[in-house]
Amino acid sequence: MRGLRDKDRFNPVIPVILEDHVRKRLIASAASALSLFLAVPASAADFQPGADGVGDPYYPTLGNGGYRVSHYDIRLKYQPATDELEGTTTILATATQDLSRFNLDFVLNVSEVRVNGRPATFATSGDQELEITPARPLAKGSQATVVVRYKDVPSTVKKYGGYTAWRRTPDGAVASGEPVSAGWWFPSNDHPSDKATFDVSVLVPDGNQVISNGVLAGTSSQAGWTRYSWRENKPQATYLATLAIGKFDISTDTTPSGLPVYNAYSKDLGDNADAARASVERTGELVDWLSGYFGEYPFSSVGGYVANTQSSGALETQTRVAYGPGLFARGSNTQVVVHELAHQWYGDSVSLSRWSDIWLNEGFAEYAQFLWSEHENEGTAQELADYIYASRPADDPFWTVKPGDPGEENQFSAAVYYRGAVAIQALRNAVGDEKFFRILKGWPTERRYGNATIPEFQAYAEKVSGQKLGDLFTTWLFTPSKPAVGPVPQGTAASASLAPGADQFEGRLPAEPKSWKKIQETSSVHEARN
Ligand SMILES: [Zn+2]
Repeated sequence: MRGLRDKDRFNPVIPVILEDHVRKRLIASAASALSLFLAVPASAADFQPGADGVGDPYYPTLGNGGYRVSHYDIRLKYQPATDELEGTTTILATATQDLSRFNLDFVLNVSEVRVNGRPATFATSGDQELEITPARPLAKGSQATVVVRYKDVPSTVKKYGGYTAWRRTPDGAVASGEPVSAGWWFPSNDHPSDKATFDVSVLVPDGNQVISNGVLAGTSSQAGWTRYSWRENKPQATYLATLAIGKFDISTDTTPSGLPVYNAYSKDLGDNADAARASVERTGELVDWLSGYFGEYPFSSVGGYVANTQSSGALETQTRVAYGPGLFARGSNTQVVVHELAHQWYGDSVSLSRWSDIWLNEGFAEYAQFLWSEHENEGTAQELADYIYASRPADDPFWTVKPGDPGEENQFSAAVYYRGAVAIQALRNAVGDEKFFRILKGWPTERRYGNATIPEFQAYAEKVSGQKLGDLFTTWLFTPSKPAVGPVPQGTAASASLAPGADQFEGRLPAEPKSWKKIQETSSVHEARN
């Protein structure tokens, strides 16, 4: 059993993932969802309830069946002194089957639900199901406007055996978390396979700021309260929506290529304040640098925020990365900024269709760190891949995790990141640099704003390269043991002389790349969890 995450550990990449027992609970509540899902015949002529999950292989009760959401309009009023949150969320949805009833995912206390203007009855079940029965059933293809009113103290609401995605800070609160966090501030179809645009408008006492995704569309002040209105006009997964309230120093600029940048730093970061700025203020430079590899940046703004939480992790919340102050406790950290910005293409613009495909997010964000190391002359991607391959003996449990389907228990384990990135180096060696970099840029361009699976990525890489890559994907992503041959470059002496099963390092460990310690620091949470 892995213990609770040590809050003091230095672990940038994802500070806000679910604890073990939480994930187990999510998984356990899946069985009932699945049976309900199967009980609904697709051909039923009568109006039926929508399923209480989308059927995700790891978290079957996340998301819901029977409709798709195109837009969330979230209007909130928040009082930092008491943590009281009042909200009205309006959801624009389209029924994908004849619905007598449908679910949203939400954990706060609801006072009223209306569907197409008429009061609807509602009930709760499981950890996060809000079951809504509209006054008039919804015909397949029809549009529905769903209004949910609520009021609660979010930090007191614990689910999945004690988890809350809403964390109070000395001067406000932060909502972020993967794979679930939306439920603590807005009702949703909480699965990355259903993305939507967002308007987030929050009223706070004068003197506080509100940070969210996209562009700040406006602020207005009246009678001691200030309203902040944010707009994300490109499709966004629910777990990539974020909210931070508190007292911040704001920095706005444009990147060298003209993209608006909006960064926010808690006024209360203490000794970490300067290192945080020295890292996050490089967002504009780094996003332009990444565009050279991944193609045009997909969104209309970029930036990040550092709230005064206890976190040492980061999450790639869309256009506005959430960084924990602990990431900067050892000085500046451009590696984590590169990682989270890489996700804007790999994860945010092109999103998972199911959580088991997490490699499409983390393998590529980790590989971007390899490219940054190469750029900084601190070790090439090949040297990093060789080092990871050679430094893990075949009996290291590291190799038992399949990055292409790690299981819900290992969704964020080190293997998904490190072996996942070595797999990408193996792909680069198999197809050659020219085709590899065409794939790296072409995929997020072709699949922009959509969803994807690993088999779809493999098919794309095969199309671009003209090569069959099934064996390579099986070896590096879907086999629970150490590949017999490392990610050896084509045409090298090593690849020519190696017999199958031979070790090109002959037991000797290659020199540690200069960037390795920093890269490892940005992922140490995953090591701890392995
Ligand atoms: Zn990541």
